[in-house]
Amino acid sequence: MPTEQSRRTVCVIPGDDAAPEAMDATLDALRVLELPVDFDIVPTGAELAPIPEVEREQFLREHIDAADGVLFGSTNGTTGGVTYMRWGKGTFANVRPIRWRPGYRSPLADPAGIDYVIVRENLEDAYIGIMGDVEDIRRAGLAGPRARLAYEGEGRYAVKIITRQGTENVARFSLELARKRRGKLTVSAKTNMLPKTDRYFCEIVAEVAQDYPDVEFEQFIIDDMAHRLVLRPHGLDVVLLPNLYGDVLSDEGAATLGGMGLAPSGCYGHDFAYFESAHGTAPDIVGQGIINPTATMLSAVMLLEHLGFGDAAHRLDTAVSDVYAAGEALTPDQGGTAGTADFAAAVVAELRR
Ligand code: ATP
Repeated sequence: MPTEQSRRTVCVIPGDDAAPEAMDATLDALRVLELPVDFDIVPTGAELAPIPEVEREQFLREHIDAADGVLFGSTNGTTGGVTYMRWGKGTFANVRPIRWRPGYRSPLADPAGIDYVIVRENLEDAYIGIMGDVEDIRRAGLAGPRARLAYEGEGRYAVKIITRQGTENVARFSLELARKRRGKLTVSAKTNMLPKTDRYFCEIVAEVAQDYPDVEFEQFIIDDMAHRLVLRPHGLDVVLLPNLYGDVLSDEGAATLGGMGLAPSGCYGHDFAYFESAHGTAPDIVGQGIINPTATMLSAVMLLEHLGFGDAAHRLDTAVSDVYAAGEALTPDQGGTAGTADFAAAVVAELRR
């Protein structure tokens, strides 16, 4: 991990639709911290769009490779860069903290104390991109008693792959994280229906967990897990999930806090990490100046921690909490009437206090 003293370069990719508005607000807050950081801000998706896709990807790669960390808005596919940062750079662990703060508009009766982290395996499972026509597997002779109907007429398939190496990597990462937090790991998948992939995933995690006797270990079937995130979230610490379930359930977790505008994330590999809100580009509110920048700001907090700027990370995190506690500059998704810029100004005022 880099030391606090050394100068760092952060590549900022504002992204598409309303994401650059949240990024501008986040940069306002980051600049107040006066860190030894050079921000290499690349153009927004709208500005990049006229450039042919191959050149755009190459341009982004050069900026990503030259940086010590990347802060990413969100893309609808125009900006791109995600495939490179995820599969090209091997960022196998997607960390999505779910922590309620006073002032968040949670739909739950008792959200106080919700504080856990979803670690989503980021490279495998149903996201490996192998998809096709059922005709292909019919020809390959992959029949089974339950597949008979699927083979009649037209249809499509998607392949799901879980590897031992990929699972061990993310299991170790999660167990180390649990050790730094409250010492508990929960793993979940559809172990009963999908023994070849999902039970395998959980078995490997349980195996690796034996090297961490100090970490409490528990396992639930994924449907039970979905239910627990709403009804019994308080006891959770680190929750490890395969890619697809992690993608879906982290949105559920964000909803229990008060919505997607509150959900940061970081994607970590062995020697590269990038940070982005867990939400998409919010195209329905583009240009209105009301996107909640909290998720992007808290992703920046994770970036600063990663770069070794722990004190600055703590300052920004506390400033965001203080703005929510005061409740005077909240965006419409949190029940307020403030715009993105007003929220940013309130965070900046807290940082300057
Ligand atoms: P993706 O598929 O890229 O994850 P999505 O289709 O799930 O994207 P989002 O962009 O996450 O869509 O938006 C879902 C809804 O949540 C939209 O109504 C959007 O306006 C709202 N939303 C998302 N992020 C924010 C935010 N930061 N502030 C306010 N509203 C948001």
